[in-house]
Amino acid sequence: MTASDRTLAVIGAGPAGLAAALTAADQGVRVTLLDSAAQAGGQFYRQPAVGLGARRPEVLHHAWGTWLKLRDRLAAHIAAGRITYLSDRHVWLVEQHLEPGEVRGGAGFTVHALLGPEQVEPEAVTAAAVLLATGGYEKVLPFPGWTLPGVVTAGGAQAMLKGGLVLPGRTVVVAGTGPLLMPVAVGLAAAGARIAAYVESARPASLVRQAPTFAANPAKVVEAVGYAARLIRHRGRVTVRHAVVEAHGADRVEAVTVAALDADGRLRPGSERRIACDTLAVGHGMLAHTDLAESLGCAIDATGDPFVVTDAEQRTSVDGVWAAGEATGIGGAVLALAEGEIAGYSIAARLRGVEPGEADRAAPARTRARLRKFFAAIDTACAPPAHWTEQVTDDTVVCRCEEVPAGAVREAVRDLGATDLRTVKLLTRAGMGWCQGRICAPGVAGVAGCAAGPAKRTFARPVPLAVLAQEPDGRS
Ligand SMILES: Cc1cc2nc3c(=O)[nH]c(=O)nc-3n(C[C@H](O)[C@H](O)[C@H](O)COP(=O)(O)OP(=O)(O)OC[C@H]3O[C@@H](n4cnc5c(N)ncnc54)[C@H](O)[C@@H]3O)c2cc1C
Repeated sequence: MTASDRTLAVIGAGPAGLAAALTAADQGVRVTLLDSAAQAGGQFYRQPAVGLGARRPEVLHHAWGTWLKLRDRLAAHIAAGRITYLSDRHVWLVEQHLEPGEVRGGAGFTVHALLGPEQVEPEAVTAAAVLLATGGYEKVLPFPGWTLPGVVTAGGAQAMLKGGLVLPGRTVVVAGTGPLLMPVAVGLAAAGARIAAYVESARPASLVRQAPTFAANPAKVVEAVGYAARLIRHRGRVTVRHAVVEAHGADRVEAVTVAALDADGRLRPGSERRIACDTLAVGHGMLAHTDLAESLGCAIDATGDPFVVTDAEQRTSVDGVWAAGEATGIGGAVLALAEGEIAGYSIAARLRGVEPGEADRAAPARTRARLRKFFAAIDTACAPPAHWTEQVTDDTVVCRCEEVPAGAVREAVRDLGATDLRTVKLLTRAGMGWCQGRICAPGVAGVAGCAAGPAKRTFARPVPLAVLAQEPDGRS
């Protein structure tokens, strides 16, 4: 293999992809870094659009210093020609070619992307190795009124603020479960919104049970306490072991009803109270982006929420394909950085045909072990209420693209014998629309009482037929 063959395609320029691309480039690998966003940074280091002229974007972030270092290293590698950075590239497929005589059994890849906001023009990049650093997305479970305008996901509210410098509303209820809710509430409050209520469904007792794991991660505890203190300073009203039962409004959300949960996760009758608001920012955790890995045939662990399986070097089960960050399980930006660094060292060594040195990855591997344990504990403590589907009335729309109500899903199970998500989809059209189940699958599966499992989509994005009809060299 010659030096020019040592090319790596990194898909995703968030913390994981950036750390991997920079580490590999430091080691002499030529990297093509592709991302669907206009600017690098991913979800955590999301930047305001350039045209907005933000003078102090750092006020919306923590760990800004880490971002500046990543940004400067990226700029230096781009200037030196070691990294080619392609923004606005939506990767819909990674194709693997087996060519005899190539390194490691002939792994060679073509990364297929669609350009720009229109996503109709194709582009292809070839590489000897691929790193999937596509991150995660939010899980939102349905409840009556969740389709009203003014109901947004917690991360969506965060993205509006960090990327567009706009507030989703003035009086906000932040609700659901999981660690993302805290920075979202604090960010909105600091930007001028009134947090009418912060509603977390987890039981404090479940968090206390994980105390030894939390104690081993003092930085995370300090971060959480800091957010809580800032929220209280902004007069946010924090309510635990409660859930939003319904969002009310004619043309947009005007109020929400919240209720207390008992020890089993059922609503306590009579505990309902109505809170006026113009926005509900809601989230029930995160899901890993596994589409590209699935279509490449990488092993996926689907015993719970699906994620890409990797080894100690962040290698997937497919030769020449690595994965890092939230695609391999939800765990935050610091874990994503550590996994990306480990992957970068591994890729640089493996492309040279040698074993990666243990010493290089010792420090990030320690961080990885500690944080994976921490986030497993968070995951257990912040699971959605066990009986959340009991709040979903038959007329609640569970699949927004195809407007399928929960009653139709229940009928498919009860009267028509559906026992899996695919049969529910065929009988009701739930998951058959534009999002192809990306948003609704956990909700539909919950209402149907079956596992969500890996989606097994052929493509990671909707692709125009004209692109599919083109010859491999770009001719149609
Ligand atoms: C909406 C949202 C808001 C969040 N807000 C916070 C927060 O406030 N505080 C906090 O601590 N954590 C937050 N998180 C979690 C945090 O962002 C992650 O822990 C961290 O960013 C994970 O890094 P990553 O590199 O694995 O993925 P990401 O940062 O998600 O980066 C993945 C990148 O891959 C790109 N991508 C994905 N699929 C494709 C594709 N097919 N083609 C091309 N590019 C693709 C995306 O555009 C993105 O830039 C948030 C997560 C989400 C989803």
